[in-house]
Amino acid sequence: MLYCVMFHHFYDNRKHHNGQGALSLLDFQMLLDWLDDNYTILSPDNYYSKIKNKTLLPTDVCLTFDDSLKSQYDIALPELETRNIKAFYFVYSNAFSNSPDSLEFYRDFRNTYFDDIDEFYDFYFQHMKQNSSQLYEEYQNKYHENYLADFPYYTENDKRFRFMRDQILTSDEYEYVMDELLAIKGYSKSKRRKFLFMSVEDLKQISNLGHTIGLHSHSHPTQISTLTEEQQLSEYTQNKEFVADITQKDVWAMSHPCGNYNKTTLSILEKIGIKVGFRSSLSIPDIKSNLEIPREDHANLIKKVKSRTQ
Ligand SMILES: [Zn+2]
Repeated sequence: MLYCVMFHHFYDNRKHHNGQGALSLLDFQMLLDWLDDNYTILSPDNYYSKIKNKTLLPTDVCLTFDDSLKSQYDIALPELETRNIKAFYFVYSNAFSNSPDSLEFYRDFRNTYFDDIDEFYDFYFQHMKQNSSQLYEEYQNKYHENYLADFPYYTENDKRFRFMRDQILTSDEYEYVMDELLAIKGYSKSKRRKFLFMSVEDLKQISNLGHTIGLHSHSHPTQISTLTEEQQLSEYTQNKEFVADITQKDVWAMSHPCGNYNKTTLSILEKIGIKVGFRSSLSIPDIKSNLEIPREDHANLIKKVKSRTQ
């Protein structure tokens, strides 16, 4: 079963640059046509009532948009409106602040300033070699070919970059180095913010159009399950207050940031009145609970659709 499609980035090569896993409007239209032919796209309300009553059919799906991204508002939303499709939007509140998490900026930086990802990797490693020679040496000594061998779609450079980021550097060191690179190229986070993230007004409009806005934590931790119960509670209550304040509607849906959660997360979500929650993969192919509904990534799905239609 497909259950649900998870969307992230879109590109038009004008305002929004292409990058790993991003969809064009044409891809999106093709995907919606294919879903229309093979499935029934349900509105969030219908989806929930079918989940609640255990009447969801194998051909029922819903659409979800994570991470409060402006490209979803600019490129995908008008197409949904044309087709009168209603979807879930899962937003993390910090994305609407003056200093959102750096991840989106780093992605944007790679896509904007470099012809391809390998050009970025070259720049990155040259910089490390020249400015942090000890760490660079440690990386050279420790890196081994088996690293991330389970991910055949990663290139050698992808693996080396991830090894440096996740095995050699602390997250603060990684951000420090990335921010140095941004400064060298003259990249300004504050200038790019409004191109990457929705505004509060955008979100209000999406909600007023009849889409369902749900939770995705306050600061989008990559591993929320490692946080204490109080920290997790604060992540979700802050996020819920933010969404309720903007939409003036009941907040009852969510998706887990990076698909990560534990029992504590689930009991917190239940306590604050969340009725449906989504994972970020089909790795567990069944609905384990109403707060653990699987989703397929749009990048995987478009590959399948394209290979079937060729
Ligand atoms: Zn996310």
